Amino acid sequence: MHIVLISTPIGFLGSGKGGGVELTLSSLVNGLLAKGHTLDVVAPKNSKLLEASKKVKLHFVEGKEQESWQHQDYYSLVTITSNSLLSGMIEKAITIGKKADIILNFSYDWLPIWMTLNIDIPIAHIISMGSESFAISNLISDVYSKYPYNFAFHSKTQASDYPFIENPIVVGNGFKLSNYIFQDSKDGPLGWVGRIAPEKGLEDAAYVANALGEKLNVWGIVQDESYALKIEKLCSPGILVWKGFLETDKLQKELGTCRALINTPKWNEAYGNVVVEALACGVPVVAYKRGGPGEIIQHGKTGFLAKPDDKRSLLEYLRIINKIDRKCCREWVEKNASSNIFASKVVNWLNKVIKDNQSKNFP
Ligand code: UDP
Repeated sequence: MHIVLISTPIGFLGSGKGGGVELTLSSLVNGLLAKGHTLDVVAPKNSKLLEASKKVKLHFVEGKEQESWQHQDYYSLVTITSNSLLSGMIEKAITIGKKADIILNFSYDWLPIWMTLNIDIPIAHIISMGSESFAISNLISDVYSKYPYNFAFHSKTQASDYPFIENPIVVGNGFKLSNYIFQDSKDGPLGWVGRIAPEKGLEDAAYVANALGEKLNVWGIVQDESYALKIEKLCSPGILVWKGFLETDKLQKELGTCRALINTPKWNEAYGNVVVEALACGVPVVAYKRGGPGEIIQHGKTGFLAKPDDKRSLLEYLRIINKIDRKCCREWVEKNASSNIFASKVVNWLNKVIKDNQSKNFP
């Protein structure tokens, strides 16, 4: 297949602003290339893929970034500014897409989804969030009624945010596992990884670390300074250790030394890349039973699932986390979330989209 991928319009690949979508796209590129597909990636200027490959054509677009939907009001109007990065990326993708089999869109926004109804090239969408916008959810519903195959989700729980979708296509996610080294370090610190923003619930992990009197290493981009300061004040001095945003290679080296990852999203997390990245390094995860992590973690085997927002329950599970066999964590990822497995699911899905589109355009 010849596939044109549209990246997120929130930030360049490698900036961290695009959250999990950045690594998801990079990992999928890796998996698709290994299967021999031809790829063009349309992305903001300065973007870097995890492994620079000569086999991928990166097309840079300049323009004004979109504001992320999870930080806007649910009923906000859709905004496209002049010099919009998003519309620039779509324009470029359509030009290149004329010679391709399909366009695969990663941006959670209104315009690319609307384009599904208005061009002949099939556009498939990997929806990266739960329902975060009234306008986008309504549009997905409209487009879905004509093109039921064009949307895929990372987890069943995420898809349940779109109740009009019957039998959702769930592709999970996957990562290049040779980039993650297994570490058998049961005595390390506690870890937390994610964008430092309210929907990620860092305060609950801080509560647990404080109660245990243990250090909590925090990796990720600070998206909300005042929120970060508030959390700092909740903790005794020395508990929170801000590690900043690291590239995957450095992140996995440090993350692998942790005795546990605490994962505390307050929203319907679509997947939870960081959960799988931790498991890939052998680090068990204690998380709320909510969103993707609720489907990924095997309670009692690769970590523990606490009742959503029950911080005390998180704390109790951390007291027994060393009972988890770290090898089971790595094994689960190898069997379920490699970039090869992810790419296979995506290819099967895209084939269905292409077939359905052909039958509609050339009945
Ligand atoms: N991440 C990173 N370096 C860091 C912290 C986080 O590269 O120091 C990446 C991490 O690898 C993951 C992403 O940030 O891919 C967070 O994705 P996740 O799906 O967990 O949450 P999202 O940000 O999409 O809500």
